[in-house]
Amino acid sequence: MQPTLPAHLLIQNVNVLTMDPNRPFASGVAIADGKIIGILDKETNWPLSPQGKIVDGNGLTLMPGLIDAHCHLRAQISQMSALSFSRADITGIDEMILAIREKTRTLPNGTWIRGTGYDPFYLKEKRHPTRWDLDQATTHHPIRLRHITRHASVLNSLALNMAGLNEFSQDPPGVKVERQPDTNIPTGVIYGGDSWLSQHVIPPITTSELENGSGQLQRNLLQRGITAVQDATPTSSIQDVKFWTARIQENKWPITIQLMASAIQHQQMEKHLINETNHQVRKGLEIGPIKVVLEANPDLFPAPTELTQIVVNATAKNIPVAIHVVDPEMVWAAVDAIETARSKFPNNLVRHRLEHLSLCPDAFLPAISKARIMVVTNPSFIYQHGDRYLSDVDPTERNWLYPMNSVLQSKIPLAAGSDAPVAVSDPWMGIQTACTRETLSGMLVNQHEKLDRYQALSLYTVGAALAAGWQHKRGMIHPQFEADLILIDQNPLNCPEREINKIQVKKVWIGGNLVFQS
Ligand SMILES: [Zn+2]
Repeated sequence: MQPTLPAHLLIQNVNVLTMDPNRPFASGVAIADGKIIGILDKETNWPLSPQGKIVDGNGLTLMPGLIDAHCHLRAQISQMSALSFSRADITGIDEMILAIREKTRTLPNGTWIRGTGYDPFYLKEKRHPTRWDLDQATTHHPIRLRHITRHASVLNSLALNMAGLNEFSQDPPGVKVERQPDTNIPTGVIYGGDSWLSQHVIPPITTSELENGSGQLQRNLLQRGITAVQDATPTSSIQDVKFWTARIQENKWPITIQLMASAIQHQQMEKHLINETNHQVRKGLEIGPIKVVLEANPDLFPAPTELTQIVVNATAKNIPVAIHVVDPEMVWAAVDAIETARSKFPNNLVRHRLEHLSLCPDAFLPAISKARIMVVTNPSFIYQHGDRYLSDVDPTERNWLYPMNSVLQSKIPLAAGSDAPVAVSDPWMGIQTACTRETLSGMLVNQHEKLDRYQALSLYTVGAALAAGWQHKRGMIHPQFEADLILIDQNPLNCPEREINKIQVKKVWIGGNLVFQS
């Protein structure tokens, strides 16, 4: 291609994997003003501006920065300061009690104890802990343990009292409080109360904890090549907009963030961003889709009529809706709501999303495609949680677990998110698992849903860019796109399949600035 402008940065001697089907490979990239201005062949002699720099990539692979289309930033930070009860940390409830007791020694009475990542499937007791278990650790500190999926929690007696949950209380909307059948006394296990607990009971982590944690989080993301994320937290608020605004203004956060928001918070957050921040902030921080978490405890919440209203209202304003759907009933309710919105606004092009699509019969795919919906899947779940799925999911439904290939075959756009901290944020583990469909113990989950390497990489580049509405500026190495680039030590298209997750990120540029190197 013909040079137009002198470059501020030339990255040469690299194996460029553009993810652009019209120009898949190249050997260098020219960058100016934070944008890609040229895709280079070996012969191209691109002019360099007087202060311009040349980077020799030593034959390594250069590709677009990876995009996580569904994660939870604040939760990843709060996870860092919480007690971790994943299967790598403990084997049973007794160890949990000891760890909590130890933690309380240094904390004043009344301080919340947070624990995360427990999964009854991997506890030797094969059950959730109860309030009575946790009361053995402390009755002076409220405790909240989160199930690995974040869709169940356990509270000790003090925390239950603070939440106003007892044998006489009604369950809050969308929340199922598990009770002893004879006495109606809550056992401490709560299903689906994540948003309710964060809003009404448990104080958020402090700004200084967030600030300290965001530095570590940033390193974690950059060293795995993530240059942009969509935060799918339904409880985000103006506080989150303010927090990330300050980080960006102080030049302490380079990764592009798109925050989703509930139907209630969305407009307020958008207004704040437009009225109270400058251009520099809005380059790195956006408000994205409206997030709806469908729960079934046992009735759908929000109810189908309410869900439809949310989708119709959002469509009228051209705002995409991202709906959390993990079983066929939820998928169908979401598709139905979106079809209704489509019929009211037949010319509207906004692309609504189904998050997770954990269990979806093949028969639903044509309707999803027809309603121009996209799917955001979670390949790492198969690796991390696949053994539990294979044991818990009814054999007649196992073929429905995390469809990927059949989604693409049905011409439904597909992206991937980590859902971190529910699973590791590492996109390379996701890319590898999308190809292998292998669980941690080596079992296979629906081999017919395997993707090839290129498709798997697309989930975190072109696909994720589409999910965020960035298809014209991110996800590909293409002229006029943002210079969000990563230099990696192996070619993910032809390295051994089981080494994809060992790929090392050597350099990361965001908007043409070098933000990480190892
Ligand atoms: Zn999520």
